[in-house]
Amino acid sequence: MKLSKSIEELEYSQALESDKEAMEWLESNGRKFGQFIGGEFLFQKNADQIKVTNPADSSVLAAIEVADDKTVDLAVTAASKSQKSWYKAGGHARAKVLYALARLIQKHARVISVLETLDNGKPIRESRDSDIPLAIRHFYYHAGWAQLQESELAGQEPVGVVAQIIPWNFPFLMLAWKIAPAIAMGNSIVLKPAESTPLTAMFFAQLCTEAGVPKGVINIINGAGNTGATLSAHPNVNKVAFTGSTAVGRAIRKSTAGQSKKLTLELGGKSAFVVFDDADLDSVVEGIVDAIWYNQGEVCCAGSRLLIQASVEKKLVAKIKKRMETLRFGTPLDKSIDVGSLVSDKQFEQVSHLVKSGLKSGGNLFQCEKPDSSKNYYPPSIITDVDSSHPLVQEEIFGPVLVIMSFRTQPEAIQLANNTRYGLSASVWSENINRAMHVAPALIAGVVWINCHNKFDAACGFGGVKESGFGREGGKEGLYEYLKPIQLKYKTTKGASVNKASSISNVQNSTSSEIDRTLKFYIGGKQVRPDGGNSIPALNFDGSISAWVGQGNRKDIRNAVEAARKANGWASKTAHLRAQVLYFFAENLTVRKDEFIKRLMETCGVKKPEATAEFNATISRIFSYAAWADKFDGAAHDAPYRGVTLALPEPIGIIGLVAPDHQPLLAAISLIAPAIAMGNRVVYIPGEQYQNIVLELVSVMETSDIPGGVINIITGDKKELSSHLAGHGEVESIWCWGDSDLNKNIESISVENLKRTWCHENNDRDWLDINSGEGTEFLRKATHVKNIWTPYGD
Ligand code: NDP
Repeated sequence: MKLSKSIEELEYSQALESDKEAMEWLESNGRKFGQFIGGEFLFQKNADQIKVTNPADSSVLAAIEVADDKTVDLAVTAASKSQKSWYKAGGHARAKVLYALARLIQKHARVISVLETLDNGKPIRESRDSDIPLAIRHFYYHAGWAQLQESELAGQEPVGVVAQIIPWNFPFLMLAWKIAPAIAMGNSIVLKPAESTPLTAMFFAQLCTEAGVPKGVINIINGAGNTGATLSAHPNVNKVAFTGSTAVGRAIRKSTAGQSKKLTLELGGKSAFVVFDDADLDSVVEGIVDAIWYNQGEVCCAGSRLLIQASVEKKLVAKIKKRMETLRFGTPLDKSIDVGSLVSDKQFEQVSHLVKSGLKSGGNLFQCEKPDSSKNYYPPSIITDVDSSHPLVQEEIFGPVLVIMSFRTQPEAIQLANNTRYGLSASVWSENINRAMHVAPALIAGVVWINCHNKFDAACGFGGVKESGFGREGGKEGLYEYLKPIQLKYKTTKGASVNKASSISNVQNSTSSEIDRTLKFYIGGKQVRPDGGNSIPALNFDGSISAWVGQGNRKDIRNAVEAARKANGWASKTAHLRAQVLYFFAENLTVRKDEFIKRLMETCGVKKPEATAEFNATISRIFSYAAWADKFDGAAHDAPYRGVTLALPEPIGIIGLVAPDHQPLLAAISLIAPAIAMGNRVVYIPGEQYQNIVLELVSVMETSDIPGGVINIITGDKKELSSHLAGHGEVESIWCWGDSDLNKNIESISVENLKRTWCHENNDRDWLDINSGEGTEFLRKATHVKNIWTPYGD
């Protein structure tokens, strides 16, 4: 009796990890860091400085210099100078350097973990057992891809100089996520860590020299938001990879618009943690600890919205509260604590403020301890009795705060889970595999975990949809973010331009028998008149009128998008069925071969052999994407856990297609076919010169079993229509072939709902060339990969 009582009363004593080595390292650097550029550590004269503090006790660890504009330029120039020779060195040479980096990090894992914990406030248990091992895995994994690049990624080349901007929640892991794939593929990088957590990046910089990273391939610059802004907008940067808040992601999208930069944004989240009544509730409780109290909830994919099936809600909430009593807080270097300090006073204030102001709208807060601002300790918290529109349910808190709601039925659970502007991740908890595998694909998110949460691996892509950003990091899909196709050819227009000046008079003078033909829009499977009632002449090459076409406006675009939304059943049709529809379309188009060849000749001014070649290539292209429909499938990743991660390419949703002016028939099919083969719905805006050709396809589409709303076509002013499309909140992606003004306009307007944009110069490719006009590049743009983690075993 006595013994059992004293066991119950046993207290943990501190088990502190020593910070001696880390402190010595800081001292050896005079506790001051400048920039790592061209393989050297540089200090500027009279540079602004930022103090780096330990959030757990406010002690000053070091100071960093703020890189000014000149220094940013220096870093970009160093990266630019080194990049070509780094790529030319070949995959094996790069693999050896990445391997050396992995080995060196492994050798210094302890000191890096301690530095990370001192700098960030996260428990040493997490930096030691999760962050640093995962970072090492990223370097090993990508050393492998460097080795295999020439054979497995043939036809692709590095994008060039990459700017990488990372946040403070996983400073070293994010560095590894960003740097490893970029340099593996032959890019050079300039990385900017967050101003509050730069120390492990500085340690890493010292390892670079030892690992044999050539000078200038990896550059690391310190500074605050302005430094990041200057870096991302630098004209010699070819790609920006950003992780951080949605607000800054938007700012970067805006500042880089029209610069032909590649962009990946990994932004915020408000992930659902969905528990069905058949889940193992004890596992669920441990899953919640991993989902929302891991890293103090400062995790973009934290499971911050707990949705519980009503019949088990009471029971589960009681279990969670009991578990909360056992979570231990203490100094982050204590090896036996669960929850550390928030990263900064600012973050502590932000979490406290969000919770306080959110509670004014109702809800009950449960905490086992009080917040302690002197240590930036915010206790694990749950909030109950809120509805789905409550600010605490909608806003990313980025702290250890879990809001709890209930649902009755499976459809309601899916609806609630998807009721957010974010789409980064979610988890499903059920012992019924049929249910879990049904719900996981229905959740709008880039990553879904089944019966687990916050699992990561280098082989499994990570990234979001909607306002959680776009692009993937990790996995093969992550490599393409740092590559571009080699075969892109820049050719001039094949067909000749219409003489517009002479055409206006021809409108009056034309005696063409077809002058009264008015081709309507194609919306929702029907031929529709323009909302404004206006038509414009579509001209033949010689200036005569081929037909009249509608002049679309904002309302027409709205109607087309609405029709596309209603056709969402297309995404769940089988790939086999989508292929059959495409084949049928090709079959019906072939019947009209002579007519289309004649139209191409009249409209584009090309000779019969060229028109015939374009028509034949069009049929072949439809066949290609019909073939791909059931072959562009996913992968099953062998990540280091007992389970399988399914990487499934999913359609993006509604894609706006703004077409080039030349090769109008083939260009249309080259854009529409891959998009719809993958299950998307499209709104197509033809190039201005040959608008009629695409509308002539409508009668073929109508007879080819393509469901209404899957393809919608609006003609008119390309700039005006594409602006409406780019501004439409339900259009998830835009592919555009236009001049630089048009592209800039589209990228700027797309900021609102953070659309994926894929913009090109009008004449950047010859659609007849199979290497640039067709292929997996288009299919990758038509999909994003969802990784579904599925553990198994008893
Ligand atoms: P930010 O998005 O501001 O910071 C992320 C990175 O971007 C940092 O390196 C930052 O530099 C840099 N940065 C800031 N402004 C610009 C700019 N205009 N152009 C380019 N780079 C810029 O996140 P915060 O640190 O301010 O955190 C605010 C909130 O963002 C958090 O409370 C959380 O909700 C969310 N967040 C989300 C993350 C995620 O992974 N989804 C990660 C971090 C934060 P510096 O730090 O030096 O200012």
